[in-house]
Amino acid sequence: MDSAVQAGGESEIADVMNEFFGKMSAEQTAKECRLTILSALLPQDCLLCGEACGDLLCPACRQELPIAEERTCPVCAERSPADGPCGSCLKAPPHFEATFAACLYAFPIDKLVQALKYSHRLPVAELLARLMLGGPRPTGDVIVPVPLSLPRLRQRGFNQAVEIARPLARELGLPLVTQRCRRRDAVAQATLPWHVRRQNVRHAFECTFDLGGQSVIVVDDVMTTGATLDEFARTLKIHGATRVTNWVAARTMRDHLPLGGRRPDESGYAYRR
Ligand SMILES: [Zn+2]
Ligand SMILES: [Zn+2]
Repeated sequence: MDSAVQAGGESEIADVMNEFFGKMSAEQTAKECRLTILSALLPQDCLLCGEACGDLLCPACRQELPIAEERTCPVCAERSPADGPCGSCLKAPPHFEATFAACLYAFPIDKLVQALKYSHRLPVAELLARLMLGGPRPTGDVIVPVPLSLPRLRQRGFNQAVEIARPLARELGLPLVTQRCRRRDAVAQATLPWHVRRQNVRHAFECTFDLGGQSVIVVDDVMTTGATLDEFARTLKIHGATRVTNWVAARTMRDHLPLGGRRPDESGYAYRR
């Protein structure tokens, strides 16, 4: 009896499995199974190519990362022909003093950031933090990740800037402030043309703490126009910050085509979803 029930159970499971996997080739089935298991466990394969390397990125993919250029503006990390602030920062200095960017926002960093934000691949945050720690490190008294608006936080379930900032704060031994700043629900910057982003983000932040005399390191995933970070720095300065340094995983350059960067369609990568 017991064995009959058991056998019946097994056959039902087999039916469900057949129905689920029946339309896939054996190769697809193996791949899907592997991805599902990997999503649930700590990653041991390269996030980009899937090679079993015991790390988040294999050595070959690590070589391909679009590491930030050396000749950049020390204030905004945009390309700068001279060894000093760029024309924009000289003409209209932002409220932050410096920006450190680990990578260019180009393939495959863009895919990794999107995977973190939209596919909830949280191990990517650790990877981005490691890349940031591998480059020049800013100094400061406290780390403040750029807040996410409440509706977006509810929708996403986490703030990617906080997830990136956690390992940074741990490594640098600095306090991480995540609860004392809020962002109002403005239209998502990524959906707007560059020229209206500054206006959209105006007065977007609220802080409830006194940063009197502190040098703040602001962490975010991507810096695009710098409008959000400028407004956040403005708010932090109102609350007493003496200096604001941005530390971002990736920087978008004005012309969108970083030198040395490759377009996605020129690459040999098959990014895993
Ligand atoms: Zn790889
Ligand atoms: Zn600049």
